[in-house]
Amino acid sequence: MRFAIIGAGMSGILASIKLSEAGFDDQVIYEKADRLGGTWRENTYPGIACDVPSHLYSYSFAPNPGWSHQFSPGDEIEGYFERVAADYGVTPRIRFGEKVDGLEWGDGRWRITTETGTTDEAEVVIAATGVLHQPNLPDIAGLDTFAGPCFHSARWDHDVDLAGKRVGIVGTGSTAVQIISAVVDEVGHLDVFQRTPPWIFPVQNTAYSEEELAAFREQPERLTQLHDTLAELFAGFAAAVTDAESEQNKGIATACVANLESSVTDPELRERLRPDYAPACKRLIMSGDYYEAIQRPNAEVVTDGIECVVPEGVRTKDGVLHELDVLVLATGFRADAFMRPMDIVGRDGVTLAEAWDPRPNAYLSITIPGFPNLFMLNGPNGPVGNFSLIEVAELQMAYSMQLIEEVAAGRCHEICATQEAMDAHEEARVAEMGHTIWVTGCRSWYLDDRGVPATWPWPFQDFRDAMAAPDLAAYDRR
Ligand code: NAP
Repeated sequence: MRFAIIGAGMSGILASIKLSEAGFDDQVIYEKADRLGGTWRENTYPGIACDVPSHLYSYSFAPNPGWSHQFSPGDEIEGYFERVAADYGVTPRIRFGEKVDGLEWGDGRWRITTETGTTDEAEVVIAATGVLHQPNLPDIAGLDTFAGPCFHSARWDHDVDLAGKRVGIVGTGSTAVQIISAVVDEVGHLDVFQRTPPWIFPVQNTAYSEEELAAFREQPERLTQLHDTLAELFAGFAAAVTDAESEQNKGIATACVANLESSVTDPELRERLRPDYAPACKRLIMSGDYYEAIQRPNAEVVTDGIECVVPEGVRTKDGVLHELDVLVLATGFRADAFMRPMDIVGRDGVTLAEAWDPRPNAYLSITIPGFPNLFMLNGPNGPVGNFSLIEVAELQMAYSMQLIEEVAAGRCHEICATQEAMDAHEEARVAEMGHTIWVTGCRSWYLDDRGVPATWPWPFQDFRDAMAAPDLAAYDRR
């Protein structure tokens, strides 16, 4: 059997390793860029780090004794993926600079076309295309008239020197908070255009000492223990978000409120920074230095809405012109894109655009009715929150391998979820949302076009249980 994996980021590398372990060596990975690393290749903004502890944000089978910090910086994470891909023989399978633009099912296989004109065929396709990869460019009047450099956080222009400049940043999500803390001391003046204040959960990001690093190197079992302990701790976080009334959630709220009260001295600024929604309703932001950064004399939180952008800067609704040299858009991503804009045509000529109208869905986030032998990693409506998407992808891949084995063993040639199974799952998923923190009254990228969270609403352990073995009755096997 031939396999095509789309995307050489965290989950594509994982898929390749797991397929090889099972003896499926006829595989190719199509990667649009000239380097691997997915989100860690694309996001290179100042201050980028993973706010999931590094020893948890690692493959369970490839612990890394060398993580420099509890929350290591982005380039170190990218280096980790490069190393794992090389060590496990993944890199030579990657075809760089090959952006897949079409997939069409017919005669028991997927026909693949890339933007460069390459064509290929595979019985199985793994879509490892990531979740947050299409920048959300804000619809602000006059944005294209700005005279200075203006770029999205995921398209950082490293040729632009920020030293001493008047910099504006739109957004106060996880990305903006990391950028603000990193650049405030370098820029001349920083205007933070805040539409909604975020809650900040206090964390300290300490570097591991030489002694700790040596202990990790010499006693590898400590790394496994640490990974598993952190996995349990963060599964507790999932419990907090899926049950708004939980003790864990109350604990998070108390810590966030205390952080705001104790860190921000000016009462007027404190009120402007105080959200009017429950902590963790939006993705909780982890930071030990944001409040300190935002109180620097050269930083200003602008809360009047943006009226428009003009060549000189940003004009807010109160009529004030905020003059700027550089404008950064930390405005997030189009979270419902997944594999799109790829053109995908499944069984009987049904397109993905049709199947995903009005919104994306997949049975247990992995397979789509009518699209056989196509498996998504970190697909729609999966677990999201402040925990490791690597664990999610590992569980999904182990589950997908069991479906792939059905085909490999000749028990069927084509496999995908039935429409009935997906609809029943979707009904149960939506019905469960009332207990979650995400519906308690805030705007976030978790919410779909109906305002329903596009997430897994049950405890994380339920997800692990669901991923343990497929219920084959939910599958259309031919
Ligand atoms: P985000 O959470 O979607 O935040 C976007 C920000 O831009 C929000 O503050 C939003 O305001 C603001 N915004 C959007 N459009 C706007 C407009 N037209 N006018 C004014 N403000 C506007 O995006 P993000 O910060 O890039 O983070 C996205 C996700 O990436 C995170 O939730 C997280 O899952 C992941 N991430 C993770 C890490 C990590 O350390 N692991 C770091 C960065 C990002 P509103 O709040 O009012 O909508």
